[in-house]
Amino acid sequence: MATYDLVVIGTGPGGYVCAVRAAQLGMKVAVVEKNATLGGTCLNVGCMPSKALLHASEMFEEAAHSFAKMGVSVSSPKLDLPAMMNFKQQGIDGNVKGVEFLMKKNKIDVLKGTGKILGTGKVEVSADGKSQVVETKNIVIATGSDIARLKGIEIDEKRIVSSTGALSLEKVPGRLLVIGAGVIGLELGSVWRRLGSEVMVVEFLDRILPGMDGEIAKQFQRILEKQGFAFKLGSKVTGVEATSKTLLAKIEPASGGAAETIEADVVLVCIGRTPYTDGLGLKEAGVALDPRGRVQIDPHFATSLKGVYAIGDVVAGPMLAHKAEDEGVAVAEIIAGQAGHVNYDVIPGVVYTTPEVSSVGKTEEELKQAGTAYTVGKFPFTANGRSKVNQTTDGFVKILADAKTDRVLGVHIIGIEAGEMIHEACVLMEFGGSAEDLARTCHAHPTRSEAVKEAALAVGKRAIHM
Ligand SMILES: Cc1cc2nc3c(=O)[nH]c(=O)nc-3n(C[C@H](O)[C@H](O)[C@H](O)COP(=O)(O)OP(=O)(O)OC[C@H]3O[C@@H](n4cnc5c(N)ncnc54)[C@H](O)[C@@H]3O)c2cc1C
Repeated sequence: MATYDLVVIGTGPGGYVCAVRAAQLGMKVAVVEKNATLGGTCLNVGCMPSKALLHASEMFEEAAHSFAKMGVSVSSPKLDLPAMMNFKQQGIDGNVKGVEFLMKKNKIDVLKGTGKILGTGKVEVSADGKSQVVETKNIVIATGSDIARLKGIEIDEKRIVSSTGALSLEKVPGRLLVIGAGVIGLELGSVWRRLGSEVMVVEFLDRILPGMDGEIAKQFQRILEKQGFAFKLGSKVTGVEATSKTLLAKIEPASGGAAETIEADVVLVCIGRTPYTDGLGLKEAGVALDPRGRVQIDPHFATSLKGVYAIGDVVAGPMLAHKAEDEGVAVAEIIAGQAGHVNYDVIPGVVYTTPEVSSVGKTEEELKQAGTAYTVGKFPFTANGRSKVNQTTDGFVKILADAKTDRVLGVHIIGIEAGEMIHEACVLMEFGGSAEDLARTCHAHPTRSEAVKEAALAVGKRAIHM
């Protein structure tokens, strides 16, 4: 029976990062993984494959529509979907190998199989009908999440797909119906639209990107509509009938009323994700769940069972890889007796479409609801020199600052490279900085990031280029 300081169950971005940090802190660590490959949802069927396809499909669209106006003449690009999928797979393989390397480098044992918690200090690892029990001082649950399903709609991953199936379609669907206008639905909808699908998105709420700043979401919807997306908001899909030739989706107004039928070749169910705790033996071991099925933790990631902690998608909070990673670092440091900490007020969110959408901190709606007095500074990319010369002027930067103290409370960007630009706002907010601090920070010219500085100037009504 092997004895460890820490056994981490799950090797997604939460689990493997936690294991590396714990090893750095001198612990003897093992990870348990039931999948054939390491890296979890993020590396295998999430962040990374979706970004590979977003990049490749964006290049395809650029070659078809943007090159000519810049004087680059190419013949009409042809899609080789198997080669594009191979490009995606190479990216996955490279990243999975990277995690394997990190495990070796940090002398972390990889135990292949399903982990089950038998009680404080004991994990059973089962694979191929065999099992072993490992002893450990601490256990971290990092088992992540699974796709959420819609009652009555059977996912076959061929014609009715989840995000996993949508990352591996064998041909471009003529008509793609996406259920859910959240980040993943809009990203994967973008991939297939660029490759030739007609995309319709059905959303229960009366807006896209629930939780993001409303003004940003509205402009984003307009941009996506210009690109060819069709939206049916305030609507719900109540069933999908599969005939031999087509899929017939029944759609009703969210508030009830007459149903209509929309035909599609592929239906993508993208209504969110649910915490994954199957096979962990939590109930028997005495690890409590919250009413939404997430592992319940205290502010130090400790569960109701002594010596057992939980992080990432399986606990409350935004289901994001970088949130899971930061929690992995924090819990390893806490176990080592240090003051690990995650600042949940400064966790950026990005939609990796074209243009991108990024966000950190409070939205205008949240500030209104909390009764916080705030000032707004906005700056459009149409007034940013670099965006003008590149002819990519969609979007704007919006900064929300405390009306009294000028402290930046939220930053929201829609525009090319918004996902890279958000981080100066994150650092500023981490240090409790003001719009004035940002406005007085020299920004290189010509960059899109100058629009962030200008938006900060606009908080004090003194933007220069507007
Ligand atoms: C299509 C898609 C795109 C996404 N894009 C982004 C993005 O761009 N940016 C972003 O931040 N987030 C993105 N996400 C979300 C991101 O993937 C998750 O937030 C992140 O992977 C959560 O990490 P985790 O470590 O908590 O769990 P996971 O990555 O889900 O890993 C959990 C691991 O635990 C293993 N496991 C589960 N139970 C057991 C058990 N009993 N024994 C052994 N192993 C077990 C699983 O096999 C899995 O490998 C995306 C998700 C999807 C689906």
